[in-house]
Parts: sequence; structure tokens; C-alpha cells
Amino acid sequence: MTTARKPVIAVAGAGLTGLSAAFYLQQQGREQGLEAEIVLLEASSRLGGRIESLQKDGFTIEKGPDSFLGRKHAILELTKDLGLLDELVTTNSKAVKTYIYQGGQLHPMPPKLALGIPADIASFLKTELLDVDAKFRATEDFLVPPRPDDGTDESVGAFLERRFGADMVKSISEPLLAGIYAGNLYKLSLAATFPQFRKAELEHGSLIRGMRASKPGAAAALPDYVPASARGMFMTYRNGLRTLVDGLDNALGGVERRMGASLRSIRAAEGGERPYVLELDGGGELLADAVVVTVPSPTAAELLQPFTDVSALRAVEYVSVANVVMAFKAETIADMEFDGSGFLVPISEGRTITACTWTSAKWLHTSPDDHVLLRCYVGRSGAEEGAFLPDDELLAAVRRDVRDTMGIDAEPLFTEITRLHHSMPQYPVGHVQAIASLRDAMLQDCPGVYVTGAAFDGVGLPDCIRQGREAAKKIWSSLI
Ligand SMILES: Cc1cc2nc3c(=O)[nH]c(=O)nc-3n(C[C@H](O)[C@H](O)[C@H](O)COP(=O)(O)OP(=O)(O)OC[C@H]3O[C@@H](n4cnc5c(N)ncnc54)[C@H](O)[C@@H]3O)c2cc1C
Repeated sequence: MTTARKPVIAVAGAGLTGLSAAFYLQQQGREQGLEAEIVLLEASSRLGGRIESLQKDGFTIEKGPDSFLGRKHAILELTKDLGLLDELVTTNSKAVKTYIYQGGQLHPMPPKLALGIPADIASFLKTELLDVDAKFRATEDFLVPPRPDDGTDESVGAFLERRFGADMVKSISEPLLAGIYAGNLYKLSLAATFPQFRKAELEHGSLIRGMRASKPGAAAALPDYVPASARGMFMTYRNGLRTLVDGLDNALGGVERRMGASLRSIRAAEGGERPYVLELDGGGELLADAVVVTVPSPTAAELLQPFTDVSALRAVEYVSVANVVMAFKAETIADMEFDGSGFLVPISEGRTITACTWTSAKWLHTSPDDHVLLRCYVGRSGAEEGAFLPDDELLAAVRRDVRDTMGIDAEPLFTEITRLHHSMPQYPVGHVQAIASLRDAMLQDCPGVYVTGAAFDGVGLPDCIRQGREAAKKIWSSLI
């Protein structure tokens, strides 16, 4: 240890990344017989960051993320460690279709699309979403030579357009993939978001061939310990994602939690036993040997600026989004058939909503019988204004879109509006390299300070857990 006394490790931010970092610091310390005082600093009054589940009138409502990809195992491993496997649920196996709203109608997406890449050409050729020329251009993926393997990055949009043509990007890839990031595909880094696409192109000379070769069945990709009833591509917990946050909270027995403790600055200590002084809003200070910074990147940039070049952090822009949940009595909207998980709206349609999840059809645990729960998403890169509309205007715009897309005019039992300003990090082209360089520089400039979270190596919940676990490992090795 660098200090004679027990080291103090501060974790800034108690979203899923920070909670996971604290959990794994505690767990890895125990496993290695290492001791530390772990202090979790959270600016707000609650744990979980973007995760917020609400129980209301028998409905389970997610205000932020609603589920996770099971094939990314970090979250399943954590769920197992927390004893929560029996809480897992998956999607309704009967709600497999997803639609795209185009030209005033909902069109089913071609079946067997893996992240928008057609695995089955025969069914892809039947889609009404593309004209004959566009379909023909998309199949040229089998012929288009790969871009040379020169180690450079490109945007997701440029890559997909190169392989499939612009129409396919506009009508299928953009609504599907951009929805995950609320992003502009022509600005998002391929290497940071879908590196498997580039790998498939390089290894198989075709994205379609490569994705076909690499795609195991969703259930086969899951560890054996996942209960049969929860095995599926997407999962959550029967009482909402809050279960995971509460599970972590309960497991952090050895971690001091300071709520309402906003980290304002980090500075090098002048002498003394511990290398860093953390200044909190309101004037308090904490002396620390190591710091895991998991706050959004603009705040992280402010904190780290005294030590290192933070341009990689400043380059990550955030998009603001909102969502509007609506609950109905099923009998009031009996004309609409919810035979899928919902629909996506391409930006070219010019609507306020970017997507609508048919929550009660997709996730059976979320709603009482004979009720319907819908969740409409608003705001994306280049069209964020909807997320800032006053409640009445936002609601009116969303209800107009709900009427135009699904013919639903009925009065909801209740609505729940959630605004998530500056919540969706956008990885710019070159992000992976820029973050690697930042981390290398930090090893010299501020050893023992590690920065991670949704703005770095993946926005998904499993990615945040993996990053928290990796941060814990880095911190322990910096202290030994
Ligand atoms: C609307 C929406 C839907 C999403 N849907 C999904 C989904 O379905 N599935 C999925 O896998 N992912 C989804 N995501 C992504 C996922 O929710 C996030 O990437 C993840 O929750 C981010 O966790 P985090 O801990 O890195 O950051 P955050 O959750 O943002 O946590 C950061 C924490 O830091 C705190 N903080 C900020 N400044 C300070 C400071 N100075 N000092 C101390 N604390 C500070 C904040 O209060 C916050 O608690 C979604 C995201 C959004 C916004």
C-alpha cells in the first residue's frame, strides 16, 4: 500500500457505474484480503442515477432505462451475486414484431434482423419499407469490398451507407440503431458503438455474412444459471430495474454513502498522507488515496482539468430526451391490436415521438389485466426541442402522434412525463482512441484517479456494470 493507514477510495456518482464500482471494490478487496474505506459521493438524494422505476396503480413504470441485453453477462453475474436471479423476467414471447412508422402507416420490420442487419434475405426482400432499387442496393453488401484495415474509425452512418446504401440507413438502420443512443448515426463512432460490424466486414467481406456467422441464438448465449422463465434477449426484474439498485444498496454494507454530496473539485494534496483533496459543494472536504469518477463527462472534465488534457471528455456531447407513459383501460382502445413490442419513427417522418413501446404487450409484468401501458419517446440528436416543451404542449404533441400513428384518441387513465436532460452520451468518431490516450495520460498526471461510466465504454446497463468492475480492479492495482 502507498499509505501506512487504510486507504480511502472515493467513488463519485451513484448511478449504476458508481454503485457497481463500490460493490466490486468491496468484493475484490475482501477476496484479496485488502482493506479500504470506500466512500460513495452522490450529488442527488437517491441512488441509481438514470435508473428510476415507479409503481403506480398496479403498473410498473420505468422512467429511464427499462431493460437490458442478456448476452452481455456482467449484469447477470451481478444479479446472481446479489441473489436476484428469481426476480428476472423476459419479454412476452408473443410480442416479437417491431414496426416502423413510414408514410402514415405502421410496417412490420423484416423478421430476423440482427441489429438492423438482415440475416434472412428472402424475408428482407418482402419488406414494404424499401423500394426495389433500395433492396437491391442493400444486397450489394455481399459484393462491396471492405475498407482497408488501417485502424481508423468512421461513423456508423458512413459505414452502413457504404455497405447497404442510403435508403436502408434512412428507413431501417437509423430508427433502429440511432434509437439506442438518441443519436445521429453520421456522428456516432462505429468503433465505440458497434465494433462487431467492422469486425464482421473485415473477417467475412460482408456484414450480412459476418453477422450470420457470429450470431448465436439469444437463449444459447445465456449462462445456465438464468432461470428458464427469464431466458430471452432482453430482460428486467419483475418489480422494475429499481430491484438492482436496491440490491446493490443492501450489499454495500462496508461502503459509506454520502447523499447530497456533490464533488466540486479534486486537487493534489500539498504533502500529507493522502494524495488527493476532494472538495464538496457546501464546503466539506475528503482526503483520498484514489478516486473513481463516474459522473457525466462534462462534470468529469471540470474535475480532471487541473491534471490532464480533457478534450476527449469535452468531445462527448449529450442529447436531451423525454418520455411520456400513458395508461389506458383496454376497452377504451379496443380497435388497436398490440401484436408486437412497439414501433420506431424515422427522423424523416417529422413527428414528435421517436418511438413507442407497447409496454403492456412487451412486458407482461408491467400492467394489470385489461389495461394497456404505452411509453412514447421524445428527443434525439438534431431534434431535442420536444424534450424541452412545457408539459401541456409535450402531452398534446405526443397525443397527436399517438392518434396519427395508432388511431388512439381515448383519454388515458394517467400520464407520467419524465425529462432526462443531457442524458444520452454521443461517442464521436475516434472516441475509443481518444479515451485510451486520456487514460494513459492520467496514469502519469493523476495516478489513482480513474474515470469511467456511460460516457466511456458503452451506455448499456451491463456495460456500466462491467466498467464499474474494471474500475475497481484498476484502483486496487494502483494501491497495491
Ligand atoms: C431515457 C434513457 C433510456 C435508457 N434505456 C436503456 C435501456 O433500456 N437499457 C440499457 O441498458 N441502457 C439504457 N440507457 C442507458 C443507461 O441507463 C445509462 O447509460 C446508465 O444508467 C448510466 O449509468 P451511469 O452510472 O454511468 O451514469 P448516471 O446514471 O448518469 O449516474 C451518474 C450519477 O452521478 C451523479 N453526479 C453527477 N454529478 C455529480 C457530482 N459532481 N458529484 C457527485 N455525484 C454526481 C448523478 O446524480 C448520478 O446519480 C438509457 C438511458 C436513458 C437516459
